[in-house]
Amino acid sequence: MHLGLTGDCVGLDIDDEGRLSQLKPAFGGSIVAPILSRTLPNMATVRPGILTACEPDDSIEPVVNRIEVGTVEASGVRVLRSVSDESAEGAELEHAARIVSVGKGIGGPENLGPIRELASAFGASIGTTRDVCDLGWLPRQYQIGLSGKAVAPELYVAVALRGPFNHTVGIQRSGTIVAINNSARSQIQIVRLISEASPTSEKS
Ligand SMILES: Cc1cc2nc3c(=O)[nH]c(=O)nc-3n(C[C@H](O)[C@H](O)[C@H](O)COP(=O)(O)OP(=O)(O)OC[C@H]3O[C@@H](n4cnc5c(N)ncnc54)[C@H](O)[C@@H]3O)c2cc1C
Repeated sequence: MHLGLTGDCVGLDIDDEGRLSQLKPAFGGSIVAPILSRTLPNMATVRPGILTACEPDDSIEPVVNRIEVGTVEASGVRVLRSVSDESAEGAELEHAARIVSVGKGIGGPENLGPIRELASAFGASIGTTRDVCDLGWLPRQYQIGLSGKAVAPELYVAVALRGPFNHTVGIQRSGTIVAINNSARSQIQIVRLISEASPTSEKS
């Protein structure tokens, strides 16, 4: 259809001129770049958990435009086997109301015991950082952030976790964030990418 597509956005916004601003991390997550499409309609994808669902408004009559797409080639993909393990810990992180997330500062997987006790004391799920998954202390489905999951709990407790943008982009819709850290310089960096806040507004 000769349209541009911005894939895997971390936020969408409408700028002052009414254009759709598609927010994408760039340079390894050190900046968030607003992308404007040259083509209409704008096409963008966002991962689950990034946006809050709107309340349905039944009073609006939708306008349906049917677009002729022509012949679609049959897919060359063959599914050999589907495996689903929804019971696995960490699988339901996107829907968790409370999350206790651990960073590398816990020192090792042997210290996960007290973290699990803390989490179960108030019915929280466990989350973590990419570094912890890379070390194999927790499996990948626990990872929150740019290359992990986006979550929206009422309470997010970050234990010994540094909280740079690459992690916090996945927790921007959290209610209350509590950070436990032994370094005053490790400030959880929250960047609000959607709603009224401008893409560059930041609070620590
Ligand atoms: C392209 C890209 C994508 C990425 N995607 C992700 C992602 O999706 N998710 C993600 O999490 N990261 C991601 N990262 C990595 C991210 O940039 C950070 O490196 C990572 O989040 C840091 O992990 P950490 O907090 O576990 O470890 P560290 O950076 O090592 O932080 C450990 C923290 O523990 C504290 N600490 C140490 N000892 C104690 C103690 N005894 N008590 C209390 N606090 C203590 C330290 O002060 C420090 O703040 C990505 C990076 C890149 C380049």
